[in-house]
Amino acid sequence: MRIVLLGPPGAGKGTQAVMLEERLGYIHLSTGDILRSNVKKGTEIGNKAKSFMEKGELVSDDIVIEMMISEIRSLDKSKSFMLDGFPRTVYQASKLDEALSKVSMPLDMVVYFKTSEETLMFRLTGRRICRECGANYHAVNMPPKKEGVCDKCGGELYQRKDDKPETIKKRLTVFDSQTKDLIAYYRDKGILVEVSGDLGADEVYEKLFGIINDRDKDRS
Ligand code: AMP
Repeated sequence: MRIVLLGPPGAGKGTQAVMLEERLGYIHLSTGDILRSNVKKGTEIGNKAKSFMEKGELVSDDIVIEMMISEIRSLDKSKSFMLDGFPRTVYQASKLDEALSKVSMPLDMVVYFKTSEETLMFRLTGRRICRECGANYHAVNMPPKKEGVCDKCGGELYQRKDDKPETIKKRLTVFDSQTKDLIAYYRDKGILVEVSGDLGADEVYEKLFGIINDRDKDRS
């Protein structure tokens, strides 16, 4: 199964990807995580991407496309994978299609997480992340047992620079102006499914699991 998780920042794509990874063994490729790790290591990609990410703007298509296609090419072809945060423009989507069709691995479905702005703001302003293991928390909904400390590894929790209200607003505007067109792009291809990102994580997972099962049955 090859899936794209599509939706604005804060829609819950990352949370669902982690659940699918843990429960079904799907490989999770998050563009944001890969870029942040490049920034942390000070690689050439990281140095080029840093200022765009801090402002909540998109990193240039060329950098992201090359980075993600080489990640996908390195995967074991028999494995299921989910793309989280990629593609984000129609140009990226067309290049992804080209690359996947060359290796006869077309996408099976694109899940659009339709989410209200109120939910997105609440989730993103409260999001806290572990510096060591990357685990996600929410200051109100899912706080750690001890404030500022990761339950899983004891690492320090921090707030992403781009999770500050002004930058969040920018990221949501960028989604509306540059990424939303992908909904129509994938709907026209007949592979778009929609789930409500306003629901709780377990409820969204149940729906997603049902959709994946139905799709699996159709394929076999
Ligand atoms: P995310 O963790 O998905 O919210 O991504 C964080 C930031 O990384 C975004 O605000 C962009 O600056 C950059 N980014 C992630 N994915 C992409 C992409 N597909 N195209 C361009 N920039 C991206």
